[in-house]
Amino acid sequence: MASAPVRVRFCPSPTGNPHVGLIRSALFNWAYARHTGGTLVFRIEDTDAARDSEESYNQLLESFHWLGFDWDEGPEVGGPHAPYRQSQRMDIYADVARKLRERGFAYPCYCTAEELEERREAARAAGRPSGYDGMCRDLTAGQVEAYEREDRTPIIRFRMPDRPITFTDLVRGELTFTPENVSDFGLVRANGAPLYTLVNPVDDALMEITHVLRGEDLLSSTPRQIALYGALAEIGVGKGTTPQFGHLPYVMGEGNKKLSKRDPQSSLNLYRERGFLPEGLLNYLSLLGWSLAADRDVFTMDEMVAAFDISDVNANPARFDLKKAEAINADHIRRMDVKDFIEACGPWLKGPQAPWAPEAFDAAAFEALAALAQTRLTVLSDITANVDFLFLDEPVEDEASWQKAMKPGADAILKTAREKLAAAQWNAEALKEAVLAAGEEHGLKLGKAQAPVRVAVTGRTVGLPLFESLEVLGRERTLARVDAALAKLTA
Ligand code: GLU
Ligand code: ZN
Repeated sequence: MASAPVRVRFCPSPTGNPHVGLIRSALFNWAYARHTGGTLVFRIEDTDAARDSEESYNQLLESFHWLGFDWDEGPEVGGPHAPYRQSQRMDIYADVARKLRERGFAYPCYCTAEELEERREAARAAGRPSGYDGMCRDLTAGQVEAYEREDRTPIIRFRMPDRPITFTDLVRGELTFTPENVSDFGLVRANGAPLYTLVNPVDDALMEITHVLRGEDLLSSTPRQIALYGALAEIGVGKGTTPQFGHLPYVMGEGNKKLSKRDPQSSLNLYRERGFLPEGLLNYLSLLGWSLAADRDVFTMDEMVAAFDISDVNANPARFDLKKAEAINADHIRRMDVKDFIEACGPWLKGPQAPWAPEAFDAAAFEALAALAQTRLTVLSDITANVDFLFLDEPVEDEASWQKAMKPGADAILKTAREKLAAAQWNAEALKEAVLAAGEEHGLKLGKAQAPVRVAVTGRTVGLPLFESLEVLGRERTLARVDAALAKLTA
């Protein structure tokens, strides 16, 4: 039997700054859709008016664009199952909830929060499973009437079948959940608001989703959803099929604790602000549960798409390793076309976060050193420290660098170097010869001789290749800085 074309989805709730777990899920769905030639549906799960905002919605779209994701159905592109924002689909959910009730798949539950809590406590104390106990499953008409007279408004609960639910997880293999551990669950709040437990499977059914790839934290809702699919098939919602599920492994952060949404390391904005490239970040996130080959950590998204299969995802928890993410990003920076690199650095050099006035920036000077800088960056924001000597009036003050390079005797070397530099042709090669010759006069190798020059001119002991830097900075400014350092040393 030929299998149906793949239809996968990403369906975040717009509740703030996207986090890496959400992006990893989106990435795996996107890669699976592109690998199989299937369809990626982007759905916004914004039924929680208290937490979802228009601002978060816009931020989500903007983030997904920045990451380079594209989708076949959803916001901006539309599609046959529109609307793709759940807040605009409330009538659908109300209708489904009504049908589920009419057919006995769901029932009103009048228990108050206090009553539920009391019984939960008692069950716990007695060592029984503490999920909902089925109290309202089979209320008589008289009992319902009595509750209504008390002015109780019920929630709608789904009636779980009294048999185990077994399914084959695409990542974890066969899983079975017994009825004691999956109790009847709420679908609609007392105020009529439909819950995630209802709207998510209803839309997956209506949107004909074939594969649900999502984080392991949602695994406990899967047996419920599978049971609900059975009921949806009976009442004619969707095509009557149940998607396959694949639960992506937990991501562990510091101290081997699950990386939480609140962890600063999990916020997408942090990576953007530091100047991760989207392809560097996605490359790293793809390794949280998957690998291209044992010896290949760095690859393009095209390569990932060509190779990605959900059955290769590993069930073991993945460890989030910022250092590795940075190393991978550095590799992606090196792979860029220098033109693209120059452009990508723009926000750090010309934007409000640059530590110099906009008019101090000199594009030609930056471009002359860009290729040298490109090989040294881990994240794009590092560019500032590499080239700030070009655009600041004076080199940065870095006391540790000064102490290291300006040991006793540094003034003598600097003086000789100044004379030779002043007499040299202003190109990197001649400048190197000049400092080399100055070193020789003091019995020093080039490395030792150039250290005070570097700190005098750039403020730092490390940086771009020095003589190329001096060439671009120019004779006048170089000599003025050496003079200023000499004055400071001999003061
Ligand atoms: N809106 C849900 C979430 O962000 C989607 C979960 C799912 O993929 O089923 O957690
Ligand atoms: Zn009840």
